[in-house]
Amino acid sequence: MADESTNALLRALPKIDEVLQRVQLPETVESTLPPDVVTHAAREEVDALRTRILGGEVVSAPELDPARVAQGVLLRVLSFARTSLRPVVNATGVVIHTNIGRSPLAPQAIEAVAQAARSYSTLEYSMERMARGSRHDHCEALLCALTGAEAAIAVNNNAAAVLMVLSEFAAGREAVVSRGELVEIGGSFRVPDIMEASGARMVEVGTTNKTHPEDYERAIGPGTALLLKVHTSNYRIVGFSESVAGAQLAKIAAAENARRAQTGQRERLLVYEDLGSGSLVPPLRERPDAEPTVRTALERACDLVSFSGDKLLGGPQAGVIVGRKDLIARLKKNPLARAMRLDKMSLAALEATLRLYLDDSAYKTVPTLRMLNEPHDTVRERAERLARLLQERIPDESARFDVVDTTARAGGGSLPLEELPSCAVQVEFLRGDANACEAFLIRRCKVPVIPRVQKEHVLFDARTLQDGEAEIVAASMARYFERG
Ligand SMILES: *Cc1c(COP(=O)(O)O)cnc(C)c1O
Repeated sequence: MADESTNALLRALPKIDEVLQRVQLPETVESTLPPDVVTHAAREEVDALRTRILGGEVVSAPELDPARVAQGVLLRVLSFARTSLRPVVNATGVVIHTNIGRSPLAPQAIEAVAQAARSYSTLEYSMERMARGSRHDHCEALLCALTGAEAAIAVNNNAAAVLMVLSEFAAGREAVVSRGELVEIGGSFRVPDIMEASGARMVEVGTTNKTHPEDYERAIGPGTALLLKVHTSNYRIVGFSESVAGAQLAKIAAAENARRAQTGQRERLLVYEDLGSGSLVPPLRERPDAEPTVRTALERACDLVSFSGDKLLGGPQAGVIVGRKDLIARLKKNPLARAMRLDKMSLAALEATLRLYLDDSAYKTVPTLRMLNEPHDTVRERAERLARLLQERIPDESARFDVVDTTARAGGGSLPLEELPSCAVQVEFLRGDANACEAFLIRRCKVPVIPRVQKEHVLFDARTLQDGEAEIVAASMARYFERG
């Protein structure tokens, strides 16, 4: 809907050459940067203006000046010198924060990643046979020992794991799932969409809040391949609600399989649970029933269980599938296993993380588990230390710093109802304000600090702060008050 004024603005857009003539690169950059990179940046800059105009914005004449646009190009080019993927300080109190990378790795896992990156490795080489091996071998024995499974495979992430299981066992057939479990997780993972992509026919049973065993029984026919159970993660219906436990699904499947055996149908009905987070040990040591472990889910007689590597497990991005040996063997042969395989660095990190679970030190050595289980007093001491650092560096007339009790969260859809008692430093502004301070901490600092903002206060939750980060927070805050 380009009207007169829009067209006039579009005509006023500077030509790429006009802009390029006015870009003044610092000498150090000019001699080394490929000219195509600068031209590309100029196009992007002009395109951004065009998009704004087409969106109906009234862009002012000075903004269309070639010299001004050239400055934007310069900023774009110089931004390549800074990395885009940067460390941040997580002061949100959300332990498994998907936007900022979920689980930090344990030192042992980091060392394993560096080693795998640095040298050649036995990635797909068997020392025993002195010949080609399988990358699936490195973690399988550990995963089986830690979950009680017969077999295991790890792929790129849990979304890939779900897609793989559904397409191997239910493509062109039916998968039965409760309406209460047709959830969307973190925007881009929707159970109905994944089912569609897999080629499985989704058969919905029950209602949003209640699904009964009979609902599943009625839906099962000769074309039913599997019963899918999905952990609802960050979504929970509390109150008048009911779902069917994995154990009950296993019973229903067993009855159906007995019938199929009698009628000579060879395909067995499978039970598969997407656990989401999936934990190898009770994630909260003092509340062992808060979330069933992978072992428990399998013992309740699921045929297959899948879960993420970087949620409660505290490892790298990965999706782990554990369960019956014959089924895992089929998955290993599925072309998707190749397309969605783990790379050597993630594999190294996963193996190293799993090894930490071989004794009960995992609660101390796996950062995610440690943060979830750290005693309130330890968190308070960290908050008190941060408050002292801030008070030392920032004048009393600028702000007040108080240690307050807060509630931290597991995040990542894990343990959605659990409130973790935590402690934060609360900033009361005598100069400046919370929103401007938050913007400064995130946009203007080399290592962005992500706080929580509550009304007019900024809060730094100490449960998710790592070693050495209190100093970064204090230095960034000192800079905020020095500037403004
Ligand atoms: C997080 C989650 C997924 C997706 O796992 P990724 O490892 O992020 O791909 C799938 N299902 C459930 C229930 C989840 O909670």
